Amino acid sequence: ALALSGCSSERGGSGDGAGDGDGATGFEAGARIGIALPDKTSENWVLAGDLFTDGLEAAGFEADVQYAPASNTVAEQQNQIQSMVTSGAKVIVIGAKDGKQLATQVEAAKAAGAYVIAYDRLIENTEAVDYYVAFDNFKVGQLQGQALLEGLEKNAGHGAPYNVELFSGSPDDANSAVFFDGAMDVLQPKIDDGTLVVQSGQTEIGQTATQGWLAENAQERMDAILTSTYSDKELDGVLSPNDTLARAILTSVDQAGKKQPVVTGQDSEAESVRLIMEDRQYSTINKDTTLLVEQTIKMIEQLQAGEEVDVNDTEQYDNGVKVVPSYLLDPVIVTKENAAEAYANVPSLLEIVESY
Ligand code: BGC
Repeated sequence: ALALSGCSSERGGSGDGAGDGDGATGFEAGARIGIALPDKTSENWVLAGDLFTDGLEAAGFEADVQYAPASNTVAEQQNQIQSMVTSGAKVIVIGAKDGKQLATQVEAAKAAGAYVIAYDRLIENTEAVDYYVAFDNFKVGQLQGQALLEGLEKNAGHGAPYNVELFSGSPDDANSAVFFDGAMDVLQPKIDDGTLVVQSGQTEIGQTATQGWLAENAQERMDAILTSTYSDKELDGVLSPNDTLARAILTSVDQAGKKQPVVTGQDSEAESVRLIMEDRQYSTINKDTTLLVEQTIKMIEQLQAGEEVDVNDTEQYDNGVKVVPSYLLDPVIVTKENAAEAYANVPSLLEIVESY
């Protein structure tokens, strides 16, 4: 039953990815919805799982929320998605562990008549992704780059040039390059004009990457750079792509007994919000997971009702074979100065801010 009406046979079309809405006939209320999340390396993933479980049930769906385990993660996530397909999920929402290794599974989902939504991280090299929902990742990077510059001007204790080092996320996450490109959009001109100096010389994404987004990998790389390059110099700032890595970088700098650099972040993790209030981490990004999950559930409801799905970007996210229609939310930069305002609607974080 429920064969995909017509559109599965359109192969190899050149750039003809638009107009996915055809054949949107909806599906039964109360249907099963699969949510496949990558890991628990950041608080936002943990929170997303809880919000999906509650939100989907409140909307009358049957939620099947799965995390890929810490070992054998890619293969296990593939298996989880495959079993969501087999058990008849009508929409499968995927936070990919490795966005390049899910084509077989999402194609199986399509063949079974399910919709596929890439959540937070793009799924690459396959036609079988219907939608992408995320915060604007390029803008996240730009905001991080701007915060680094602004923090240096305020807190470096001297004028330019500033010594900085650059970190990026895991190479298996499509977001990592987008965050980095956004940041370099702001920072490269400042490297070129001599305002910023990357003393290690490591400015290529292949050199700055943090495998698995793991704190220990960032800490190790920071340790190595401090030893090789900063024994007779001060490090003024570090571009960190998220909070977990920011804390690892700060730990490394502390252990080396160096002065505290300006460090950026992302995700508004509780521990980093505390460090911001204590003038230890300079900035983070608020990507309110509640809003992202709500938007995703709205997409699912629109698909269920056979309505057109709201998207607001049909250009940026080319996954290698198609431009995936996207709904992008707006990220917000947070420093000590605007924290109370930025977290006005996030009670748990507001409480932290107000306790200082
Ligand atoms: C997310 C970030 C997160 C990182 C590590 C990225 O794909 O967009 O918010 O910090 O993964 O979990």
